[in-house]
Amino acid sequence: MQLDVARLKRSPGASARNELTVDLPPLNFSGEEIIFAGPLRADLVVSNTGKALTVEGLAEGKLELSCSRCLQHFIYEYKVPIDEKYALPQEEENSEELQTFTGDYIDITSAVVNSILLVLPMKAVCAEGCQGLCPVCGVNLNESCCGCATEDIDLRLSVLKELLKKDDK
Ligand SMILES: [Zn+2]
Ligand SMILES: [Zn+2]
Repeated sequence: MQLDVARLKRSPGASARNELTVDLPPLNFSGEEIIFAGPLRADLVVSNTGKALTVEGLAEGKLELSCSRCLQHFIYEYKVPIDEKYALPQEEENSEELQTFTGDYIDITSAVVNSILLVLPMKAVCAEGCQGLCPVCGVNLNESCCGCATEDIDLRLSVLKELLKKDDK
């Protein structure tokens, strides 16, 4: 994902808007591969501050995640802010330790990918009210019902009764 800054890097005070649509390879999120469900769209403004080039804007798109409760795949829409700064090549003293670039292009792929990784939920859910899978029989409780839940309660009640009986003695 490259931004052409050939003209901008020589024009202090100037800025340019870049709209990009790109297909990205799958992300690696804590050892898990996450695929993009469509292209990423970025709307970015690149500005020359005289000392650095700033890249600001938004990136959005869709990812395919799996629900941590019911394990079904679902589409997750992300919208992340992009705010990056790159030192101009002629700035010899890079006091702020900014990122650098060479040539006429800035590759913002890793900056965008890192911004997306930051907003990904550790435990994604397909919907707030997702019922998940039955821990006993594994049925998807969003789609069907099973008798396990009530049996579970019955079991706990009988354990409680046993305990009460012991207390009586
Ligand atoms: Zn779910
Ligand atoms: Zn069940």
